[in-house]
Amino acid sequence: MSNRSLIDTDSDRFVIEYLSPVLRQKLNTSPMQWTDLQNECLKEYHEQGGTGDKIRESLKKIPLDSKMIQVCQLLYSKGWVLAIVSDANQVYIEGILEHYGIRNLFSAIITNPAFWDVQGRLHIQRLIPADGIPHGCPSGVCSLNICKGQEVDKLLLRLGNDSQAGGAVESFGHAGVPIRMLYVGDGRNDYCPALRTKSPQDIYFVRKGRSLEKYLNMADAPEIRRAIRARIVYWDKAGEILSELQSTL
Ligand SMILES: [Zn+2]
Repeated sequence: MSNRSLIDTDSDRFVIEYLSPVLRQKLNTSPMQWTDLQNECLKEYHEQGGTGDKIRESLKKIPLDSKMIQVCQLLYSKGWVLAIVSDANQVYIEGILEHYGIRNLFSAIITNPAFWDVQGRLHIQRLIPADGIPHGCPSGVCSLNICKGQEVDKLLLRLGNDSQAGGAVESFGHAGVPIRMLYVGDGRNDYCPALRTKSPQDIYFVRKGRSLEKYLNMADAPEIRRAIRARIVYWDKAGEILSELQSTL
């Protein structure tokens, strides 16, 4: 999930803005790598006496369209395997999914690790640490700490499949059965996993008005969109995804 795929906001920003206007300013001005910046903001928040309860409270206020919940329930009920691949973090995603009662629908959550320490401070780490082996993805859209495409590859291997899958909501078939992939994304880093799609039977749901749509439609680089084999469906509201799935699944 880039943040505006499953939920209707950017969870990293939402939480920090909920906690502190000062830290909100820091988010907009610091040159620090994004995941490190999240961690730094939470460190400052804790040092200033901020509580974990308020962080947990903020997660319950993150908007998630009820139609998106229906999308997840529909896919799950039809036997699709759902996974999240996100540049947010484990604590936020788990908290949001649990609040909306849909944690059980997801088989995997691939994202930056996060944990509470004994002092009640929330720590967020990069999925690929700064001193770890770089992912080396050639797509040019992936951030330093995560290549969503490679994470999708690993997920598929783990699931015993031999083809594709993707981001905010993704799905896998069962081994030995032709696999269809549905991928919902909004950010440029949702492009890489979509390169794993194989046919027009797959659907790539691209959110309107976000960086992924702009990237796919750059006038001087039509090959970017042509590299995607899935059928591309642009969406604004989750109800559009629901309608599409109800008519095609
Ligand atoms: Zn990549």
